[in-house]
Amino acid sequence: MPGIAITFTSGKGGVGKTTVTANLAVALALLGRRVTAIDTDIGLRNLDIVMGMENRIIYDIVDVVEGRCHLYQALIRDKRFSSLHLLPASQTRDKTAVTPQDMVAICQELKKNNDFVLIDSPAGIELGFRNALAGADELVVVTTPEVAAVRSADRILGLIESIGKGSSQLIINRIKPSMVRRGDMLDTFDVIEFLAIELLGVVPEDEAILIATNQGIPLACEAKTPAGQAFHNIAYRLLGEEVPFLPIFEEPETLFTRIRRVLRLSY
Ligand code: ADP
Ligand code: MG
Repeated sequence: MPGIAITFTSGKGGVGKTTVTANLAVALALLGRRVTAIDTDIGLRNLDIVMGMENRIIYDIVDVVEGRCHLYQALIRDKRFSSLHLLPASQTRDKTAVTPQDMVAICQELKKNNDFVLIDSPAGIELGFRNALAGADELVVVTTPEVAAVRSADRILGLIESIGKGSSQLIINRIKPSMVRRGDMLDTFDVIEFLAIELLGVVPEDEAILIATNQGIPLACEAKTPAGQAFHNIAYRLLGEEVPFLPIFEEPETLFTRIRRVLRLSY
């Protein structure tokens, strides 16, 4: 059976698309799945850094498209998980070097040998965005719980619908339980109600992500931190398992927090 291609996109930049792509790639590989992550951010690649592969790039996606190498020569195999690969973006070439048709062909080929092809989109809604969407079977919109990010997510959902790409799922990233508790941050319920979209997962703010990113070892390599656990839950959901959403409140439960927990979804 061919695999499935999932694109991670967003309205606003910097909300965590690359972080989510890298961590879900690792979490799915840990579960024994064959995964290839594709960086479509030509000119501003960074999925290679987050995955700790930046020193091992020989060929990139533009070399593939322009025929300087075979697709499989450009894939970098992860040192920890042999079923995980990265197709890096080019750092220097201009963005028009890859077309949506190229992406469709690349995704078709990679799906033959992978369970999951995870595509990280660039910021913006130009060619890079269309490239990222072209080969996707499913779309996941990433947002933070900030009003500006949620509004941009709404716009991008409208755009996705107009392209006829079908339904999308949502990941809410960087939720801060203490701020939600004080009423200073939109919570999961507010966001999904506004966007009217199916929730795939919620990832908490976790400073371990910064450390992991700097080291090039995605957090999901170990599921011990809150965000690591959240990525593993999302990976299981992508495999079709029903994983309950964890409560986001860390403090001892009172009747009030229990009622909120029951009424409002979290991770
Ligand atoms: P995008 O790809 O959407 O531009 P990134 O994945 O590069 O976003 O994330 C932007 C910044 O936010 C990075 O510095 C990353 O380490 C940080 N970040 C992402 N998710 C989290 C999180 N859940 N907790 C803490 N920091 C995060
Ligand atoms: Mg990015």
